[in-house]
Amino acid sequence: MAKIRTRFAPSPTGYMHVGNLRTALYAYLIAKHEGGDFILRIEDTDQERFVEGALDIIYNTLKATGLKHDEGPDIGGSVGPYVQSERTSIYLEYAKSLVEKGEAYYCFCTKERIDALRTESEAQKKTPKYDKHCLHLSKEAIEENLASGIPYVIRQNNPETGTTTFDDEIYGSISVDNSELDDMILIKSDGFPTYNFANVVDDHLMGITHVVRGSEYLSSSPKYNRLYEAFGWDVPTYVHCPPIMKDAQHKLSKRNGDASFEDLIAKGYLKDAVLNFIALCGWNPGSDKEIFSLEELIEVFNYKTINKSPAIFDDVKLRWMNSEYVKKLSLDEFNELALPYYKQVIIKDLDFMKISELMHTRTEIFSDIPSVIDFFEELPDYSADLYLHKKMKTTYENSLNSLEKIAPKFEAITDWNFQNIEKACMDLVQELSVKNGIVLWPVRTAVSGKQSSPGGAYEIGEILGKEETLRRVQIGIEKLKSALN
Ligand code: GLU
Repeated sequence: MAKIRTRFAPSPTGYMHVGNLRTALYAYLIAKHEGGDFILRIEDTDQERFVEGALDIIYNTLKATGLKHDEGPDIGGSVGPYVQSERTSIYLEYAKSLVEKGEAYYCFCTKERIDALRTESEAQKKTPKYDKHCLHLSKEAIEENLASGIPYVIRQNNPETGTTTFDDEIYGSISVDNSELDDMILIKSDGFPTYNFANVVDDHLMGITHVVRGSEYLSSSPKYNRLYEAFGWDVPTYVHCPPIMKDAQHKLSKRNGDASFEDLIAKGYLKDAVLNFIALCGWNPGSDKEIFSLEELIEVFNYKTINKSPAIFDDVKLRWMNSEYVKKLSLDEFNELALPYYKQVIIKDLDFMKISELMHTRTEIFSDIPSVIDFFEELPDYSADLYLHKKMKTTYENSLNSLEKIAPKFEAITDWNFQNIEKACMDLVQELSVKNGIVLWPVRTAVSGKQSSPGGAYEIGEILGKEETLRRVQIGIEKLKSALN
Protein backbone atom coordinates (compact mmCIF):
# COMPACT_ATOMS: atom_id res chain seq x y z
CA MET A 1 0.00 0.00 0.00
CA ALA A 2 1.18 3.48 -0.83
CA LYS A 3 2.38 5.61 2.05
CA ILE A 4 -0.48 7.48 3.64
CA ARG A 5 -0.34 11.23 3.19
CA THR A 6 -2.82 13.56 4.82
CA ARG A 7 -2.90 17.31 4.97
CA PHE A 8 -4.19 20.08 7.15
CA ALA A 9 -5.26 22.92 4.91
CA PRO A 10 -6.30 25.89 7.02
CA SER A 11 -7.24 29.27 5.65
CA PRO A 12 -5.51 32.13 7.47
CA THR A 13 -8.58 33.40 9.26
CA GLY A 14 -6.81 34.70 12.35
CA TYR A 15 -8.02 32.12 14.83
CA MET A 16 -7.99 28.35 15.25
CA HIS A 17 -11.53 27.11 15.48
CA VAL A 18 -11.68 23.93 17.57
CA GLY A 19 -13.38 22.20 14.64
CA ASN A 20 -10.37 23.00 12.48
CA LEU A 21 -7.98 21.87 15.15
CA ARG A 22 -9.87 18.59 15.37
CA THR A 23 -9.58 18.20 11.60
CA ALA A 24 -5.84 18.75 11.94
CA LEU A 25 -5.65 16.23 14.76
CA TYR A 26 -7.59 13.55 12.89
CA ALA A 27 -5.53 14.10 9.73
CA TYR A 28 -2.37 13.85 11.83
CA LEU A 29 -3.55 10.69 13.60
CA ILE A 30 -4.59 8.97 10.36
CA ALA A 31 -1.15 9.58 8.89
CA LYS A 32 0.87 8.76 11.99
CA HIS A 33 -1.12 5.63 12.82
CA GLU A 34 0.26 4.22 9.57
CA GLY A 35 3.66 5.88 9.72
CA GLY A 36 2.61 8.31 6.99
CA ASP A 37 3.18 11.99 6.27
CA PHE A 38 1.23 14.93 7.59
CA ILE A 39 1.39 18.02 5.40
CA LEU A 40 0.53 21.63 6.12
CA ARG A 41 -0.89 23.66 3.27
CA ILE A 42 -2.05 27.24 3.57
CA GLU A 43 -5.23 28.01 1.66
CA ASP A 44 -5.05 31.74 1.16
CA THR A 45 -6.78 32.15 -2.17
CA ASP A 46 -9.50 34.26 -0.65
CA GLN A 47 -7.37 37.36 -0.47
CA GLU A 48 -10.15 39.49 1.01
CA ARG A 49 -10.23 37.31 4.08
CA PHE A 50 -6.50 37.51 4.74
CA VAL A 51 -5.73 38.46 8.33
CA GLU A 52 -2.38 39.75 9.52
CA GLY A 53 -0.63 37.40 11.96
CA ALA A 54 -2.90 34.53 10.99
CA LEU A 55 -0.04 32.32 9.86
CA ASP A 56 1.63 32.60 13.24
CA ILE A 57 -1.53 31.38 14.91
CA ILE A 58 -1.53 28.31 12.69
CA TYR A 59 2.15 27.54 13.26
CA ASN A 60 1.97 28.22 16.98
CA THR A 61 -1.10 26.08 17.51
CA LEU A 62 0.41 23.11 15.67
CA LYS A 63 3.61 23.52 17.63
CA ALA A 64 1.87 23.88 20.99
CA THR A 65 -0.29 20.83 20.43
CA GLY A 66 2.54 18.68 19.08
CA LEU A 67 0.93 18.14 15.68
CA LYS A 68 4.23 18.28 13.89
CA HIS A 69 3.99 18.48 10.13
CA ASP A 70 6.46 16.74 7.83
CA GLU A 71 6.13 19.21 4.98
CA GLY A 72 4.88 22.76 4.87
CA PRO A 73 5.64 26.37 3.96
CA ASP A 74 8.07 26.81 6.84
CA ILE A 75 10.00 23.57 6.37
CA GLY A 76 9.60 22.89 2.67
CA GLY A 77 9.17 19.50 1.02
CA SER A 78 9.22 17.96 -2.40
CA VAL A 79 5.77 19.05 -3.60
CA GLY A 80 5.78 22.74 -2.69
CA PRO A 81 5.11 25.55 -2.69
CA TYR A 82 2.72 24.86 0.18
CA VAL A 83 0.97 28.22 0.08
CA GLN A 84 -1.80 28.44 -2.49
CA SER A 85 -1.19 32.08 -3.39
CA GLU A 86 2.25 30.99 -4.60
CA ARG A 87 0.71 28.39 -6.87
CA THR A 88 -1.65 30.50 -9.01
CA SER A 89 0.10 29.73 -12.29
CA ILE A 90 -0.29 26.01 -11.59
CA TYR A 91 -4.05 26.30 -11.17
CA LEU A 92 -4.45 28.39 -14.28
CA GLU A 93 -2.51 25.87 -16.32
CA TYR A 94 -4.66 23.00 -15.06
CA ALA A 95 -7.85 24.96 -15.60
CA LYS A 96 -6.83 25.66 -19.18
CA SER A 97 -6.17 21.99 -19.76
CA LEU A 98 -9.76 21.31 -18.68
CA VAL A 99 -10.99 23.99 -21.10
CA GLU A 100 -9.17 22.17 -23.86
CA LYS A 101 -10.88 18.92 -22.92
CA GLY A 102 -14.28 20.60 -22.91
CA GLU A 103 -14.58 20.01 -19.15
CA ALA A 104 -14.42 23.70 -18.36
CA TYR A 105 -15.11 26.98 -20.15
CA TYR A 106 -14.47 30.69 -20.04
CA CYS A 107 -17.32 32.77 -18.73
CA PHE A 108 -17.51 36.51 -19.37
CA CYS A 109 -20.88 37.17 -17.75
CA THR A 110 -21.12 40.40 -15.84
CA LYS A 111 -21.97 40.57 -12.18
CA GLU A 112 -25.30 42.13 -13.18
CA ARG A 113 -26.22 39.14 -15.31
CA ILE A 114 -25.24 36.67 -12.59
CA ASP A 115 -27.23 38.66 -10.02
CA ALA A 116 -30.25 38.69 -12.31
CA LEU A 117 -30.03 34.91 -12.72
CA ARG A 118 -29.93 34.52 -8.97
CA THR A 119 -32.93 36.79 -8.43
CA GLU A 120 -34.85 34.83 -11.04
CA SER A 121 -34.04 31.46 -9.41
CA GLU A 122 -34.98 32.79 -6.02
CA ALA A 123 -38.29 34.03 -7.34
CA GLN A 124 -38.94 30.52 -8.64
CA LYS A 125 -37.73 29.06 -5.35
CA LYS A 126 -34.95 27.20 -7.13
CA THR A 127 -31.33 26.83 -6.06
CA PRO A 128 -29.32 29.37 -8.10
CA LYS A 129 -27.40 27.75 -10.90
CA TYR A 130 -25.40 29.18 -13.76
CA ASP A 131 -27.26 28.70 -17.06
CA LYS A 132 -24.23 27.70 -19.19
CA HIS A 133 -24.70 30.86 -21.27
CA CYS A 134 -20.98 31.22 -22.07
CA LEU A 135 -20.52 27.51 -22.84
CA HIS A 136 -21.98 28.26 -26.21
CA LEU A 137 -19.68 31.12 -27.18
CA SER A 138 -17.80 30.52 -30.40
CA LYS A 139 -14.04 30.04 -30.33
CA GLU A 140 -13.63 33.38 -32.10
CA ALA A 141 -15.84 35.24 -29.64
CA ILE A 142 -13.80 33.82 -26.76
CA GLU A 143 -10.50 34.78 -28.38
CA GLU A 144 -11.80 38.25 -29.03
CA ASN A 145 -13.01 38.73 -25.48
CA LEU A 146 -9.71 37.50 -24.07
CA ALA A 147 -7.72 39.69 -26.43
CA SER A 148 -9.69 42.77 -25.47
CA GLY A 149 -9.14 42.09 -21.80
CA ILE A 150 -12.73 41.47 -20.75
CA PRO A 151 -12.71 40.03 -17.23
CA TYR A 152 -13.48 36.33 -17.13
CA VAL A 153 -13.81 33.34 -14.86
CA ILE A 154 -13.31 29.70 -15.76
CA ARG A 155 -16.19 27.39 -14.92
CA GLN A 156 -16.48 23.67 -14.59
CA ASN A 157 -18.66 22.11 -17.29
CA ASN A 158 -20.91 19.64 -15.53
CA PRO A 159 -23.25 17.26 -17.35
CA GLU A 160 -26.96 17.92 -17.04
CA THR A 161 -28.11 14.33 -17.01
CA GLY A 162 -27.07 11.22 -15.14
CA THR A 163 -25.81 10.98 -11.57
CA THR A 164 -22.50 11.36 -9.77
CA THR A 165 -21.68 9.12 -6.86
CA PHE A 166 -18.88 9.38 -4.40
CA ASP A 167 -17.89 7.47 -1.32
CA ASP A 168 -17.09 8.92 2.02
CA GLU A 169 -15.57 6.78 4.74
CA ILE A 170 -17.87 8.23 7.35
CA TYR A 171 -21.05 9.18 5.50
CA GLY A 172 -21.05 6.31 3.03
CA SER A 173 -22.00 6.47 -0.61
CA ILE A 174 -23.63 9.70 -1.74
CA SER A 175 -25.27 10.20 -5.13
CA VAL A 176 -26.53 13.41 -6.67
CA ASP A 177 -28.32 14.11 -9.89
CA ASN A 178 -25.98 15.89 -12.25
CA SER A 179 -28.78 18.33 -12.98
CA GLU A 180 -28.16 19.68 -9.48
CA LEU A 181 -24.48 20.38 -10.08
CA ASP A 182 -23.76 24.02 -10.63
CA ASP A 183 -21.00 24.91 -13.09
CA MET A 184 -18.87 26.19 -10.27
CA ILE A 185 -16.11 28.72 -10.78
CA LEU A 186 -12.62 27.25 -10.89
CA ILE A 187 -10.62 30.41 -11.57
CA LYS A 188 -11.92 33.75 -10.33
CA SER A 189 -11.70 37.05 -12.19
CA ASP A 190 -8.74 38.07 -10.03
CA GLY A 191 -6.83 35.09 -11.40
CA PHE A 192 -6.96 33.19 -8.10
CA PRO A 193 -8.49 29.75 -7.99
CA THR A 194 -11.52 28.99 -5.84
CA TYR A 195 -11.10 26.63 -2.92
CA ASN A 196 -13.24 24.21 -4.88
CA PHE A 197 -10.66 23.95 -7.63
CA ALA A 198 -7.42 24.44 -5.73
CA ASN A 199 -8.14 21.70 -3.19
CA VAL A 200 -8.51 19.11 -5.94
CA VAL A 201 -5.41 20.17 -7.86
CA ASP A 202 -3.31 20.41 -4.73
CA ASP A 203 -4.48 17.20 -3.13
CA HIS A 204 -3.57 15.41 -6.34
CA LEU A 205 -0.23 17.10 -6.91
CA MET A 206 0.74 16.72 -3.29
CA GLY A 207 -0.05 13.01 -3.30
CA ILE A 208 -2.71 13.23 -0.60
CA THR A 209 -4.25 9.80 -0.06
CA HIS A 210 -6.81 10.70 2.62
CA VAL A 211 -8.70 13.99 2.51
CA VAL A 212 -9.87 14.85 6.02
CA ARG A 213 -12.15 17.86 6.40
CA GLY A 214 -15.38 19.17 7.87
CA SER A 215 -18.73 17.81 6.73
CA GLU A 216 -19.64 21.24 5.35
CA TYR A 217 -17.68 20.18 2.25
CA LEU A 218 -19.70 17.02 1.79
CA SER A 219 -22.26 18.56 -0.54
CA SER A 220 -19.58 19.92 -2.86
CA SER A 221 -17.69 16.67 -3.06
CA PRO A 222 -19.57 15.31 -6.11
CA LYS A 223 -18.28 18.32 -8.02
CA TYR A 224 -14.75 17.57 -6.83
CA ASN A 225 -15.20 14.00 -8.00
CA ARG A 226 -16.14 15.23 -11.43
CA LEU A 227 -12.91 17.22 -11.50
CA TYR A 228 -10.83 14.18 -10.59
CA GLU A 229 -12.57 12.26 -13.32
CA ALA A 230 -12.12 15.05 -15.85
CA PHE A 231 -8.40 15.05 -15.13
CA GLY A 232 -8.25 11.27 -15.11
CA TRP A 233 -6.88 11.25 -11.57
CA ASP A 234 -7.49 8.79 -8.74
CA VAL A 235 -10.04 9.99 -6.22
CA PRO A 236 -8.58 10.14 -2.68
CA THR A 237 -10.22 8.53 0.33
CA TYR A 238 -12.63 11.03 1.82
CA VAL A 239 -13.02 11.38 5.55
CA HIS A 240 -15.60 14.06 6.34
CA CYS A 241 -15.92 14.87 10.02
CA PRO A 242 -19.15 15.77 11.82
CA PRO A 243 -19.67 19.34 13.02
CA ILE A 244 -18.93 20.26 16.63
CA MET A 245 -21.98 21.87 18.17
CA LYS A 246 -22.50 23.92 21.31
CA ASP A 247 -25.84 22.19 21.76
CA ALA A 248 -28.38 20.48 19.52
CA GLN A 249 -29.21 23.71 17.69
CA HIS A 250 -26.14 25.90 17.78
CA LYS A 251 -22.74 25.58 16.24
CA LEU A 252 -19.75 26.74 18.22
CA SER A 253 -19.17 30.26 17.13
CA LYS A 254 -16.32 32.64 17.28
CA ARG A 255 -18.68 35.35 18.47
CA ASN A 256 -19.49 33.53 21.70
CA GLY A 257 -15.80 33.34 22.47
CA ASP A 258 -16.02 29.61 22.90
CA ALA A 259 -14.91 28.36 19.57
CA SER A 260 -11.20 28.81 19.23
CA PHE A 261 -8.19 27.10 20.67
CA GLU A 262 -6.84 30.48 21.79
CA ASP A 263 -10.08 31.27 23.64
CA LEU A 264 -9.81 28.02 25.56
CA ILE A 265 -6.18 28.57 26.44
CA ALA A 266 -7.01 32.12 27.57
CA LYS A 267 -9.75 30.66 29.78
CA GLY A 268 -7.12 28.61 31.53
CA TYR A 269 -7.44 25.24 29.87
CA LEU A 270 -4.28 23.20 29.31
CA LYS A 271 -3.41 22.49 25.68
CA ASP A 272 -2.99 18.76 26.23
CA ALA A 273 -6.40 18.57 27.84
CA VAL A 274 -7.99 20.48 24.96
CA LEU A 275 -6.37 18.18 22.42
CA ASN A 276 -7.46 15.08 24.33
CA PHE A 277 -10.97 16.48 24.61
CA ILE A 278 -11.41 17.33 20.94
CA ALA A 279 -10.10 13.91 19.93
CA LEU A 280 -13.23 12.58 21.62
CA CYS A 281 -15.55 15.09 19.91
CA GLY A 282 -16.88 12.81 17.23
CA TRP A 283 -14.84 9.70 17.91
CA ASN A 284 -14.48 7.24 20.76
CA PRO A 285 -12.03 4.44 21.32
CA GLY A 286 -14.74 1.87 21.97
CA SER A 287 -13.71 1.60 25.62
CA ASP A 288 -14.20 3.62 28.79
CA LYS A 289 -10.74 5.11 28.63
CA GLU A 290 -10.88 8.85 28.17
CA ILE A 291 -7.46 10.21 29.01
CA PHE A 292 -5.10 9.83 26.08
CA SER A 293 -1.71 11.26 25.33
CA LEU A 294 -1.01 12.11 21.71
CA GLU A 295 1.13 8.96 21.41
CA GLU A 296 -1.70 6.83 22.74
CA LEU A 297 -4.10 8.43 20.29
CA ILE A 298 -1.77 7.63 17.40
CA GLU A 299 -1.81 4.06 18.58
CA VAL A 300 -5.56 3.58 18.94
CA PHE A 301 -7.12 6.03 16.50
CA ASN A 302 -9.23 4.42 13.81
CA TYR A 303 -10.90 6.89 11.47
CA LYS A 304 -13.44 4.31 10.38
CA THR A 305 -15.13 4.73 13.73
CA ILE A 306 -15.60 8.51 13.52
CA ASN A 307 -19.24 9.34 14.24
CA LYS A 308 -21.63 10.70 11.68
CA SER A 309 -23.77 12.60 14.11
CA PRO A 310 -22.77 16.06 15.31
CA ALA A 311 -20.50 16.13 18.33
CA ILE A 312 -21.60 18.22 21.29
CA PHE A 313 -18.94 20.35 22.90
CA ASP A 314 -19.52 19.38 26.50
CA ASP A 315 -18.04 22.12 28.73
CA VAL A 316 -18.56 20.09 31.87
CA LYS A 317 -16.58 17.22 30.47
CA LEU A 318 -13.83 19.52 29.28
CA ARG A 319 -13.55 21.01 32.78
CA TRP A 320 -13.31 17.55 34.28
CA MET A 321 -10.71 16.49 31.75
CA ASN A 322 -8.71 19.63 32.37
CA SER A 323 -8.73 18.98 36.11
CA GLU A 324 -7.27 15.54 35.43
CA TYR A 325 -4.43 17.15 33.50
CA VAL A 326 -3.96 19.78 36.20
CA LYS A 327 -3.56 17.05 38.80
CA LYS A 328 -0.86 15.45 36.69
CA LEU A 329 1.25 18.61 36.82
CA SER A 330 4.02 18.75 39.38
CA LEU A 331 3.54 21.31 42.12
CA ASP A 332 6.22 23.49 40.55
CA GLU A 333 4.58 23.34 37.14
CA PHE A 334 1.22 24.13 38.66
CA ASN A 335 2.65 27.06 40.59
CA GLU A 336 4.24 28.53 37.51
CA LEU A 337 1.02 28.33 35.50
CA ALA A 338 -1.11 29.59 38.41
CA LEU A 339 1.10 32.56 39.26
CA PRO A 340 -0.33 34.94 36.64
CA TYR A 341 -3.83 34.17 37.97
CA TYR A 342 -2.74 34.80 41.59
CA LYS A 343 -1.24 38.10 40.55
CA GLN A 344 -4.52 39.21 39.02
CA VAL A 345 -5.94 39.60 42.53
CA ILE A 346 -3.02 39.50 44.95
CA ILE A 347 -0.57 42.36 45.20
CA LYS A 348 0.78 41.40 48.62
CA ASP A 349 3.97 39.46 48.91
CA LEU A 350 2.60 36.08 50.02
CA ASP A 351 4.04 32.60 49.89
CA PHE A 352 2.46 31.60 46.59
CA MET A 353 3.88 28.11 46.74
CA LYS A 354 1.79 27.52 49.84
CA ILE A 355 -1.30 28.76 48.00
CA SER A 356 -0.43 26.34 45.19
CA GLU A 357 -0.33 23.49 47.69
CA LEU A 358 -3.95 24.34 48.48
CA MET A 359 -5.07 24.95 44.93
CA HIS A 360 -3.34 22.18 43.01
CA THR A 361 -5.90 19.44 43.55
CA ARG A 362 -8.93 21.69 43.57
CA THR A 363 -8.43 23.60 40.35
CA GLU A 364 -10.44 22.61 37.30
CA ILE A 365 -9.44 25.53 35.12
CA PHE A 366 -6.98 28.28 35.86
CA SER A 367 -9.36 31.13 35.24
CA ASP A 368 -11.39 29.95 38.25
CA ILE A 369 -8.46 30.71 40.54
CA PRO A 370 -8.77 34.47 41.11
CA SER A 371 -12.25 34.40 42.59
CA VAL A 372 -11.28 31.52 44.88
CA ILE A 373 -8.16 33.08 46.37
CA ASP A 374 -8.90 36.80 46.27
CA PHE A 375 -9.65 36.79 50.02
CA PHE A 376 -5.93 36.47 50.71
CA GLU A 377 -5.49 40.00 49.43
CA GLU A 378 -8.47 41.53 51.10
CA LEU A 379 -11.01 40.23 53.58
CA PRO A 380 -14.40 40.28 51.85
CA ASP A 381 -17.27 42.13 53.50
CA TYR A 382 -19.10 39.09 54.79
CA SER A 383 -22.21 38.56 56.87
CA ALA A 384 -22.07 37.31 60.48
CA ASP A 385 -24.43 34.55 59.39
CA LEU A 386 -21.44 32.77 57.87
CA TYR A 387 -20.52 31.80 61.41
CA LEU A 388 -23.70 29.78 61.75
CA HIS A 389 -22.97 26.22 60.73
CA LYS A 390 -25.67 23.68 61.47
CA LYS A 391 -23.55 20.56 61.49
CA MET A 392 -20.75 22.17 63.48
CA LYS A 393 -23.36 23.54 65.87
CA THR A 394 -21.83 26.98 65.85
CA THR A 395 -23.83 29.98 67.02
CA TYR A 396 -23.05 33.69 67.28
CA GLU A 397 -22.34 33.16 70.96
CA ASN A 398 -19.99 30.20 70.82
CA SER A 399 -18.27 31.65 67.73
CA LEU A 400 -17.67 34.91 69.57
CA ASN A 401 -16.35 33.02 72.54
CA SER A 402 -13.95 30.99 70.39
CA LEU A 403 -12.61 34.06 68.60
CA GLU A 404 -12.17 36.06 71.82
CA LYS A 405 -10.26 33.19 73.37
CA ILE A 406 -8.12 32.36 70.37
CA ALA A 407 -6.89 35.91 69.96
CA PRO A 408 -4.52 35.95 72.98
CA LYS A 409 -3.27 32.46 72.09
CA PHE A 410 -2.40 33.62 68.59
CA GLU A 411 -0.85 36.74 70.04
CA ALA A 412 1.44 34.56 72.16
CA ILE A 413 2.82 32.55 69.25
CA THR A 414 6.40 33.62 68.58
CA ASP A 415 7.10 31.27 65.71
CA TRP A 416 4.08 31.72 63.41
CA ASN A 417 3.53 28.53 61.46
CA PHE A 418 0.98 25.83 60.71
CA GLN A 419 1.92 23.62 63.68
CA ASN A 420 1.78 26.39 66.24
CA ILE A 421 -1.54 27.72 64.90
CA GLU A 422 -2.89 24.19 65.10
CA LYS A 423 -1.59 23.77 68.62
CA ALA A 424 -3.22 27.03 69.75
CA CYS A 425 -6.56 25.95 68.33
CA MET A 426 -6.37 22.44 69.78
CA ASP A 427 -5.42 23.81 73.18
CA LEU A 428 -8.52 25.95 73.10
CA VAL A 429 -10.69 22.99 72.04
CA GLN A 430 -9.42 21.13 75.10
CA GLU A 431 -9.86 24.04 77.47
CA LEU A 432 -13.42 24.60 76.32
CA SER A 433 -14.18 20.86 76.11
CA VAL A 434 -15.90 21.38 72.77
CA LYS A 435 -15.81 19.68 69.42
CA ASN A 436 -13.09 20.92 67.04
CA GLY A 437 -15.61 22.66 64.80
CA ILE A 438 -16.68 25.05 67.54
CA VAL A 439 -13.22 26.61 67.34
CA LEU A 440 -12.12 25.81 63.79
CA TRP A 441 -15.21 26.98 61.94
CA PRO A 442 -15.23 30.46 63.45
CA VAL A 443 -11.47 30.87 62.98
CA ARG A 444 -11.63 29.70 59.36
CA THR A 445 -14.57 32.01 58.73
CA ALA A 446 -12.83 34.96 60.34
CA VAL A 447 -9.63 34.58 58.32
CA SER A 448 -11.30 33.89 54.96
CA GLY A 449 -14.61 35.77 55.16
CA LYS A 450 -16.01 33.10 52.86
CA GLN A 451 -18.45 30.24 53.04
CA SER A 452 -15.84 27.96 51.54
CA SER A 453 -12.15 28.39 51.07
CA PRO A 454 -9.17 26.39 49.93
CA GLY A 455 -7.53 25.18 53.13
CA GLY A 456 -8.71 25.58 56.67
CA ALA A 457 -7.87 27.88 59.56
CA TYR A 458 -4.24 26.72 59.91
CA GLU A 459 -3.25 26.91 56.24
CA ILE A 460 -4.90 30.25 55.67
CA GLY A 461 -3.57 31.69 58.93
CA GLU A 462 -0.06 30.60 58.07
CA ILE A 463 -0.21 32.23 54.62
CA LEU A 464 -1.77 35.46 55.91
CA GLY A 465 0.79 35.90 58.68
CA LYS A 466 0.26 36.67 62.34
CA GLU A 467 -0.61 40.32 62.13
CA GLU A 468 -3.21 39.95 59.38
CA THR A 469 -4.71 36.87 61.03
CA LEU A 470 -5.14 38.76 64.30
CA ARG A 471 -6.63 41.73 62.48
CA ARG A 472 -9.20 39.47 60.81
CA VAL A 473 -10.04 37.69 64.07
CA GLN A 474 -10.68 41.11 65.57
CA ILE A 475 -13.00 42.04 62.70
CA GLY A 476 -14.85 38.76 63.32
CA ILE A 477 -15.27 39.61 66.98
CA GLU A 478 -16.76 43.00 66.13
CA LYS A 479 -19.09 41.49 63.54
CA LEU A 480 -20.37 38.88 66.00
CA LYS A 481 -20.82 41.45 68.73
CA SER A 482 -22.99 43.61 66.57
CA ALA A 483 -24.94 40.56 65.37
CA LEU A 484 -25.71 39.80 69.00
CA ASN A 485 -26.91 43.29 69.78
N1 GLU B 1 -9.24 25.84 3.74
C1 GLU B 1 -10.35 25.05 4.15
C2 GLU B 1 -10.82 25.56 5.50
O1 GLU B 1 -10.06 26.18 6.20
C3 GLU B 1 -9.92 23.63 4.32
C4 GLU B 1 -10.85 22.63 3.82
C5 GLU B 1 -10.10 21.33 3.53
O2 GLU B 1 -9.50 20.80 4.45
O3 GLU B 1 -10.11 20.90 2.39
O4 GLU B 1 -11.94 25.34 5.85
